[in-house]
Amino acid sequence: MYYNEETTVYLNGKWLKAKDAQTDLYNQTMHYGNGVFEGIRAYDTEDGVQVFKAKEHYERLLYSAEKMHINLNYTVEELVDLTYELLEKNGLSNAYIRPLVYLGANMALQPTEEVNVFLCAWEWGKYLGNDMLNLMTSSYQRPNPKSCHVEAKVVGHYTNSILATTEAKQKGFDEALLLDANGNVAEGPGANFFYEKDGVIYTCPLGNILAGITRATVFEMAKELNFTIEEKYFTPEDVKGADGAFFTGTAAEVAGIGSLDNVKFTMDWEDTMGAQLARMYRNRVSSREYKSFDLV
Ligand code: PMP
Repeated sequence: MYYNEETTVYLNGKWLKAKDAQTDLYNQTMHYGNGVFEGIRAYDTEDGVQVFKAKEHYERLLYSAEKMHINLNYTVEELVDLTYELLEKNGLSNAYIRPLVYLGANMALQPTEEVNVFLCAWEWGKYLGNDMLNLMTSSYQRPNPKSCHVEAKVVGHYTNSILATTEAKQKGFDEALLLDANGNVAEGPGANFFYEKDGVIYTCPLGNILAGITRATVFEMAKELNFTIEEKYFTPEDVKGADGAFFTGTAAEVAGIGSLDNVKFTMDWEDTMGAQLARMYRNRVSSREYKSFDLV
């Protein structure tokens, strides 16, 4: 699914066939989860292939690396250029791009001087699909921000996401909604969460969540549409029975949510502000509107 005989990847300055790329099984990222990564999408637009918010994604990658004491010697510009080259070499236009920064062999608890940069891409449909999602409040909390840099995109953090999604699927739901250490709603395992009630959209403040780039795009679009977004702490009880809700993420885009813990949202999705934002997002990533973004 992710690669075939022809797929080309970037690894530490070289373009290789995915099937020939190798790694050291003693690397610290595999043993302890100390690595950082990104999830980026490219779209086929009227101006050719465009990587959406490329600069923001690579700025976040550099930030995540710095937080984990990983000495990543690449600039945002270099990484953006490599990404376009990767897409071209693989003949991809609508694609999901996965940059992964992983470390060298080390069983001790400090990062290595060796820092590996791996870039790959594949065609990937909308993560979480197009149907309304039925969520459950997870029994797992998001990692306590005092135990890690929760706003950084670190490999090891995703064990928490895997536990939450697996629990939700095993119980017959589509996805989980995780709380923070204080019992307030934080985010999904791989997406930020918003709900709407009486004409106002709510989402939690930064602090216990990944600072989503799609979340920021939704803030931008809401401003243009004169929609009010309020950042506040809220509980699952505040969400239940609200007018509507949605997830945002690069892979998920803007995805409508049908229910939380089997309590349905009251409005038809198509009539919600979330649905308008979802349509606007599709246009923004794929159309002329894209020109207004500051690309490097
Ligand atoms: N939260 C988590 C935990 C995620 O993994 C993601 C996906 N990167 C998001 C939120 C959404 O972030 P973005 O919009 O930058 O993709």
